[in-house]
Amino acid sequence: MNFDEGEDLTLLRDTLRRFLDRELPREEARRLDAAASHRPDLFAKLCELGVTGLTVPEEYGGSGVDILAAIVCIEELARRGTSLAGPYIHCAFYGALNLLENGSDAQKRELLPRLARGELLFAYGLSEPDVGGDLASATVTGRLEDDGATVVINGTKRWCTGARIADYIYTLVRSGPAEDRYRNLSLVLVPARAAGITITDIDHTGLRYSATTDVIFDEVRVPAANVVGGREKWHHGWPMLAGRSLDIEKLEITAVALGIAAIAVDDAWQYAQERRQFGRRICGHQAIRHLLVEARTRLAACRHMLYHAAWLATQGRDCSVESSMAKWFVAEHAVGIVLACQRVLGAYGCARDFDMERYVRDITCMPIVGGSSHMQLNNIANRLGLPAK
Ligand SMILES: Cc1cc2nc3c(=O)[nH]c(=O)nc-3n(C[C@H](O)[C@H](O)[C@H](O)COP(=O)(O)OP(=O)(O)OC[C@H]3O[C@@H](n4cnc5c(N)ncnc54)[C@H](O)[C@@H]3O)c2cc1C
Repeated sequence: MNFDEGEDLTLLRDTLRRFLDRELPREEARRLDAAASHRPDLFAKLCELGVTGLTVPEEYGGSGVDILAAIVCIEELARRGTSLAGPYIHCAFYGALNLLENGSDAQKRELLPRLARGELLFAYGLSEPDVGGDLASATVTGRLEDDGATVVINGTKRWCTGARIADYIYTLVRSGPAEDRYRNLSLVLVPARAAGITITDIDHTGLRYSATTDVIFDEVRVPAANVVGGREKWHHGWPMLAGRSLDIEKLEITAVALGIAAIAVDDAWQYAQERRQFGRRICGHQAIRHLLVEARTRLAACRHMLYHAAWLATQGRDCSVESSMAKWFVAEHAVGIVLACQRVLGAYGCARDFDMERYVRDITCMPIVGGSSHMQLNNIANRLGLPAK
């Protein structure tokens, strides 16, 4: 057993920390969050470091798939908020890893090299107004025209984060009778600016690297070649959605939670040594000392959970139980960690000029997004064969 982080990962962390200090000062991260806006120029600079190649094989222009390194990258980016971590995920995970796992040869040849260079962003069009965790009940329809060459899409996707900055919406459509649930679902790559698409923003509290939106599809026509996996994968969307890519998906949002919790602990640790009350630094008051070391201890446990699952994924091993365990454990504990850190800052933890209030807004989304905590517990119980009746 070896818990040492490889030199390559330490180098990656150092490179990213220097990059963020230089290119994305805390004030700018705060400004971007307030405006829920994306800086394509900054993302392009990040891509020059080669990090979007970490989820693309060399034959498609990447540096070879290294899930562990990509997860380290997300953790480091998330320490400076979600303004770069978000788009990175939309490119390297929503885009590259999904296509690598599920795309047709033609889709891989055309899109993976561009994803490796960071030139494309994908948004997820999965949730709907009445469809949350139960994605198999999706109602947005996809109709294959008689000549088999065109898919026509109708309906509304909700919470489609980044639709305004994305090139493609990775859209789950009902391609047959609703009773069939898991059968007759398909995934389609819909160009985000296709005719018939209307995007409206949803004002929201956390993960504000871009607007999250409603996307309304009104007779949106897409070539059947855009069915994920190719025309022959029509009606085969569910196994692609619930397969290995979903396991890795859980790790990516978990890495965001870890990065936010880690920087919250660092900020609180520092603040407690500077703030004086009752004649001493507040880190000298036992209540604050205990809050801080409990937070650090829980953070260490979160890190082990995430990196064990990411290590399994990197080895190409089954990690469906471990990734659900990590998603549940880290999301739940990260909320507790960040709220404890906010308390260390007292009133300043609520001030807009301090990052802590953003950490709180971001972290409270974590047990909800990327498969809610309850859904992770259901997955774990089912995967471990615990009888439900
Ligand atoms: C900031 C943000 C960004 C998002 N971005 C995207 C995006 O880009 N693309 C996208 O498709 N979606 C996105 N979502 C939606 C997100 O994926 C959903 O919120 C999530 O899937 C849960 O769905 P829901 O909120 O509708 O909750 P529901 O599914 O309605 O669940 C409500 C509550 O009931 C619980 N529950 C439901 N079913 C069960 C069950 N069987 N057992 C136990 N408990 C259950 C849930 O855990 C939850 O606590 C985003 C959400 C947010 C907040």
